[in-house]
Amino acid sequence: MKNIYSHCFSVLSAVVLASAVWADTVPILKGQATQGGMLWGHVAPGTQVHLGGTAVEVHKDGIFVIGFSRDKTGVATLEYRYANGTAERQDIIVKPRKFNVEHVNGLPPKTVTPPPEWTARRKVENGRVRSARAVMTPEIQWVEGFLKPADGRFSGFYGSQRILNGKPRSPHYGLDIAADVGTPIWAPAGGVVRLAAADFLLEGGIVIIDHGLGVTSTLFHMNSVAVKEGERVARGDVIGTVGAKGRANGPHVDWRVNWQNVRLDPLLLLPLENE
Ligand SMILES: [Zn+2]
Repeated sequence: MKNIYSHCFSVLSAVVLASAVWADTVPILKGQATQGGMLWGHVAPGTQVHLGGTAVEVHKDGIFVIGFSRDKTGVATLEYRYANGTAERQDIIVKPRKFNVEHVNGLPPKTVTPPPEWTARRKVENGRVRSARAVMTPEIQWVEGFLKPADGRFSGFYGSQRILNGKPRSPHYGLDIAADVGTPIWAPAGGVVRLAAADFLLEGGIVIIDHGLGVTSTLFHMNSVAVKEGERVARGDVIGTVGAKGRANGPHVDWRVNWQNVRLDPLLLLPLENE
């Protein structure tokens, strides 16, 4: 933590050493320090950022981003290692949330054996999703904020979970938007298309957009896909249409946001009037 003396020193020497003004100040973080939340901040160029001991990518402008999983609890610690050799820690209390958990009991036992060709196909598809999300692009397209990717009502939320006959199913990590088949889907933020496929087994039409620094959007159950891998899209560009392809109960788009392999809540990224 800085004392009065070092603060005065920084201000007095601001003309000569511009970066010293903020070199000893932890950034004010934007976003939501909660389960499924994304936080970003701005540090002086040359600052290294670590989250829980792991290095976090910092954009050349000094912007960095982190995110918390649905089940993250307690305190997350950011460490700033400044170019002048000093370091500071910033403890973030990750606010817990209550997710909708539904118990369904008395279901007849179901033994479903997927055909072997499905297992092989899923392995390939999951690999493509993982690689698409693993790209670290030095861009910050998420900084402008996100758009709701289609007109329609929210029909499924991040974090909800069903417990069938006492067995917890994996939680739902998307924000579902129900709309008619053919309703346009927009890029929620700009970026590069890292995955575009028409017919994944569970997802149907799927698009993954890389917004930079490990932040990606995944959109699926699409009826049609209008973009190609490697293509650059701007926020609001049409990338395809709503469908019910893959394993879907009705036409909707399932929108997911990741920070690397951490699954975030897209609803927390939308302006408040959408809630
Ligand atoms: Zn969904």
